[in-house]
Amino acid sequence: MRGEATVLHADLDAFYASVEQRDAPELRGRPVVVGGGVVLAASYEAKARGVRTAMGGRQARDLCPDVVVVPPRMDAYSAASRAVFAIFRDTTPLVEGLSIDEAFLEVGGLRRIAGTPEQIAMRLRERVRAEVGLAISVGIARTKFLAKVASAVSKPDGLLVVEPEREEAFLLPLPVERLWGVGAVTAEKLHRLGIRTVGQLAELESATAERLLGKATGAHLHALARLRDPRPVDTTRRRSAIGSQRALGSRLRSADELDVILTQIVDRIARRLRDGDRVCRTVVLRLRYGDFVKASRSRTLRSPTDRTAVLLAVARALLAGAQPEIAERGITLIGVSLSQVARTDSVQLELPIDWDDGVRLDTALDAVRDRFGAASVSRAAQLGRDPGWSPPQLSEHE
Ligand SMILES: [Mg+2]
Repeated sequence: MRGEATVLHADLDAFYASVEQRDAPELRGRPVVVGGGVVLAASYEAKARGVRTAMGGRQARDLCPDVVVVPPRMDAYSAASRAVFAIFRDTTPLVEGLSIDEAFLEVGGLRRIAGTPEQIAMRLRERVRAEVGLAISVGIARTKFLAKVASAVSKPDGLLVVEPEREEAFLLPLPVERLWGVGAVTAEKLHRLGIRTVGQLAELESATAERLLGKATGAHLHALARLRDPRPVDTTRRRSAIGSQRALGSRLRSADELDVILTQIVDRIARRLRDGDRVCRTVVLRLRYGDFVKASRSRTLRSPTDRTAVLLAVARALLAGAQPEIAERGITLIGVSLSQVARTDSVQLELPIDWDDGVRLDTALDAVRDRFGAASVSRAAQLGRDPGWSPPQLSEHE
């Protein structure tokens, strides 16, 4: 028994471009690109001409000389997103947002009061069309992975149910690019090996896939190709930033003192990140100067991390950049927040399996703290220095 198809993946079609066409009737039916230097979104009319997201604006014009390029209006997209998510949450309490324009909805418990998953999806699509003026595609399946593949296959403006007994028939003939997590590089690798469909990937032994694609990626994709994806809809997913800050009073602080405080803050939030099985990509340093003017500096990493050493190195670089200002104006508050936070398992494919010393140190420190409390362990930067302060009062923010 495989259970029932009760997971919906709802995904707005060509989201930014569709909002532009909704708000400007003269753009309807025309190839529209949102962005300028780079294509942030393309309408289906532009996609039909070969225009793709992340393509340069020049290339888009070459492909499609009559393309209409409009600047992004993030406020309008946020408002549309909020309206659509309100409809999601009105449909079921079990909503897991994936991005500004897509979410998983678990509707399994609603049959008696709201009907079958297919009926619920039809009503959801009608409401988004009527109340927000946008087309949304919905895939329905037993697992999140299959629901996401189904919504993509159904686009544009589609609804596709993958019944449990039809899963292989649906998935195996699809091109490997349809697997969630297969990017251009992995697809190219597979193509070179003559593997073009999900079925061909599924036929390999797991060990073969791991050897060809790397252990983590190979095992993950092979499991997906064989229809193993047990993850339930996760409504506890935290999209918000993780952060901590410390007010410093008005006395002067040496660079060394600031470094110790920064280390404590990063150590603590990195641990929270790992405890929540999360990784992040952006580190934000927040400062309040002696004159109480606030400033922030941020840096985004190329790949997500949960390593204290990496996060601390970025935070230190940001603080070093602010030192001239601090020297001149004084500093009364320092804080760090981590954003672009995602579940570790959702980005596993981009993470190298790198069991280096940093990983071992973080794991060991976390374990010791779990047993003996946070005060029992200090990082090297804090050792040999008597801070002379009471334990830091780190208040949460965001
Ligand atoms: Mg979308």
